[in-house]
Amino acid sequence: METWIAKAVFVAGSIALVAIRAPHGQRSRSVPTEQSYKGPLEIALLILAMIGFVLPFVWVFSSAFACAERTSTPLVFGMGSVCIVGGLWWFHRSHVDLGTNWSITLELRAGHRLVTEGVYSRVRHPMYAALLLYSLGNALVVPNWIAGPAYGVPMLLLFALRVGPEEAMMRARFGAEYDAYCTRSKRLVPHVW
Ligand code: SAH
Repeated sequence: METWIAKAVFVAGSIALVAIRAPHGQRSRSVPTEQSYKGPLEIALLILAMIGFVLPFVWVFSSAFACAERTSTPLVFGMGSVCIVGGLWWFHRSHVDLGTNWSITLELRAGHRLVTEGVYSRVRHPMYAALLLYSLGNALVVPNWIAGPAYGVPMLLLFALRVGPEEAMMRARFGAEYDAYCTRSKRLVPHVW
């Protein structure tokens, strides 16, 4: 596999990710935040995620991680590309369904509504599922042991450490409505978990 193809797919995926989020992010930020649970852990996780997002660009535009290059095959590259496209599609669907209730951190907005339809009907964290799938795609597409998993590792950490506090926040706000939603939905994978 030619490295430049992996670099092109990685850069295109990253641009798509930012482009998908931009309009939704802007619209959400226009709704005032009513309650914020953004503590030091949240700040640390967001900084790590940002570093993980940028690190592969260092691989694209320099030879900084040359010592960590690995070989790839068309099959691995193809599977990674499918994960990236699938993750991006799911990311787009999640943003559309969550609307202005989205926030980059643990926040509740004015007039916050519990979304339980669309991609939220069967799983409570479709956006995290999308980002994890996208990250897996990057790990497979980018033939470098540092740059490949650079985004996935903080995403896994963010999911593992945030999902509990996020569900507690939603339960405190929506009470029985959220409990009922939990009984008919899974966290990440429909019918599984
Ligand atoms: N965990 C969700 C949303 C990620 S964005 C997902 O993976 O799809 C994080 C913000 O979304 C949280 O701060 C919370 O305010 C909001 N949120 C999470 N689940 C929600 C839901 N079902 N309805 C409305 N807002 C939700």
